[in-house]
Amino acid sequence: MIEDLMSKITSLAKRRGFIFPGSEIYGGIAGFYDYGPLGVELKNNIKKLWWQEMVYKHDEIVGLDSAIITHPKVWEASGHVTAFTDPLIECRSCHKRFRADNLENISDKQKSKMLSKQSLTDKNKEYIKNADKVCPDCGYAINTHVDTPKQFNLLMKTYLGTVEGEKDATYLRGETCQGIYLNYKNVLDSMWKKIPFGIAQIGKAFRNEITPGNFTFRTREFEQMEMQWFIKADLKESEKWFTYWKEERMKWYLSLGFKKEIMPRRQPILSITRHFPGKNLKESIIGVIGIFRGIQNLVELTYYILITKQKINISLGLLRPQLELIE
Ligand SMILES: [Zn+2]
Repeated sequence: MIEDLMSKITSLAKRRGFIFPGSEIYGGIAGFYDYGPLGVELKNNIKKLWWQEMVYKHDEIVGLDSAIITHPKVWEASGHVTAFTDPLIECRSCHKRFRADNLENISDKQKSKMLSKQSLTDKNKEYIKNADKVCPDCGYAINTHVDTPKQFNLLMKTYLGTVEGEKDATYLRGETCQGIYLNYKNVLDSMWKKIPFGIAQIGKAFRNEITPGNFTFRTREFEQMEMQWFIKADLKESEKWFTYWKEERMKWYLSLGFKKEIMPRRQPILSITRHFPGKNLKESIIGVIGIFRGIQNLVELTYYILITKQKINISLGLLRPQLELIE
């Protein structure tokens, strides 16, 4: 059902000049899209509205436009370089990644249950028929003959200068917030800001997804709108601001004409990730058209930033677009 709806939306967006598949005349390139004449206007309008709301409406929030390429140490310090370099297999259904040796064998019963679904394409049927493992999270078939384990890192590597060598290797940014942390002290010193204050940024980010999909919901190049709100490391303060931003953001969506009923919220969850030491309280507003992808994540995290040691901040981002890496 959702696949059908998605292909209808994809072809409509193309026919009407909103979004074209990337490099189409060369057969396309997975995970990249070009915004057409109407698409770019739509995207610019959204960015403009967001910037007005975040930066111009709040005196205590300032903007930033940091470089896409940074010193590679930034990504080493953030944990992005070392994380996810295991050989992993990605589930085609829930997109979670697992080590191949941790997967259980699929049973004939599980297979026939999956194959009985009407909406499957021939390609999907073939994949399930020959599957040998099963996803421990969503229960979908995994075919390790087709999806072989990959040494996986989400960062996109690039080389600076004329010689390609590890010494000159760096990465396209995997998220916009690192640029904000890098410039935290510059902003604090030059703009006379005091905590609490926020830094907002809109910009491109890149992630080397194994299986991009769901149209623009999971792409390798995308744009993030993100505001990092810095507060005192205090539990009461963080709860206060979490609630404040939760309400502020919802008000904004409603002011744009979104209907509350089509904006379900994933319940706040308390999670501890290997990336972010400490507890993260997180709430997502989930995308429309039935796709379980966040369009906004509100994350409260205790986070080691590069310059100041430990701070609690509230990070607000319009997600793509977001990845499990930080989830
Ligand atoms: Zn799965």
